[in-house]
Amino acid sequence: MQWTVRLEARTSGGEVTTTELVTFSRPAVVSTLAEVGLVLPETKALLAKLQASMLCGQVAAYAAHHRACVECGALQPLKDRRTRRLQTLFGTVEIEAPWFKLCRCRQPVPMTGVTVSPIRALLTARYTPELERVQAELGARTSFRDGVRILEALLPVSPANHESLRSRTHAVALQLEAADRQAAAEITAVRDEPAKAAAADASRPVVMLDGAYICAVPGHQVRSFEAVCGKVEHEGHPTRRFAPVRSVAEQPRVLLRAALQHQGWREGGAVTAISDGDPALPVLVRSATGGPGEPILDWFHLSMRVQHVEQVMGGLCAVEPPPLAPLDHPQIDVARLRHLLWTGHH
Ligand SMILES: [Zn+2]
Repeated sequence: MQWTVRLEARTSGGEVTTTELVTFSRPAVVSTLAEVGLVLPETKALLAKLQASMLCGQVAAYAAHHRACVECGALQPLKDRRTRRLQTLFGTVEIEAPWFKLCRCRQPVPMTGVTVSPIRALLTARYTPELERVQAELGARTSFRDGVRILEALLPVSPANHESLRSRTHAVALQLEAADRQAAAEITAVRDEPAKAAAADASRPVVMLDGAYICAVPGHQVRSFEAVCGKVEHEGHPTRRFAPVRSVAEQPRVLLRAALQHQGWREGGAVTAISDGDPALPVLVRSATGGPGEPILDWFHLSMRVQHVEQVMGGLCAVEPPPLAPLDHPQIDVARLRHLLWTGHH
């Protein structure tokens, strides 16, 4: 038994073109459950063919529309036939991208032979925004390698390596950060003077630190050591990362001080330190800057402490007989603790 999928394209003028996409075959009488219905490879092939056919038709119509001169309406002569490749969620499609000679009525000097490619204005990137968005979402939720595996398992997307998934995730993150900064700038622009001072504070360098003890493999003549990973962020500067090992680096505070200065920090300037609650880390920042610094517990470790409070509350509520004082109100507040902290309530 055979099934053939045909795509019927109808223009606004009523012209119809039919393209045969794929044909699926099965035994006349199936013998196993696996032979019933569509399977993934067939679906991927169908999607890829459908995408290529639809996309090429759209781009061809776009090129035909822009071939007419905007001044006199005459068809501009074809100069060259080239192709462009566009990566989409449903496969990479090779697209005709013709170049036209600019109409005589618009040539700056007659016979100069200026050419134009209308497709360049449409294909502003090598990939569709949808592919970028899905790759960035997977890159943010899973490891980059798993993100690639998931996409390739389910969709006819072209093989991509984890590096490209990482670079697209970072590109989208930068776009989001830029949008956030713009929104923040618009809010601070309408604030009063004290708020302006707070905004100036907000643009101080932020040092994020986390420390870990690395244990030596048993039997090796190497000591365990402590590494401190950190980064310095300051508006207008690219993020700077560093990872001194306390026992090896001659002076971690010197490295941190250099990283801060590279980020535009100047002697006496305020610094915000975000760390995991280890008191040694804010001390490191204070010794690097020579100033007080503002220590802040990072969100992960703050959230861990909230989780502890939630567990205590869960335990109290389960006590039999129930406690004398009603726990309803604290229970509601505990459920909202993360939200309240996130939105700046102290
Ligand atoms: Zn013209």
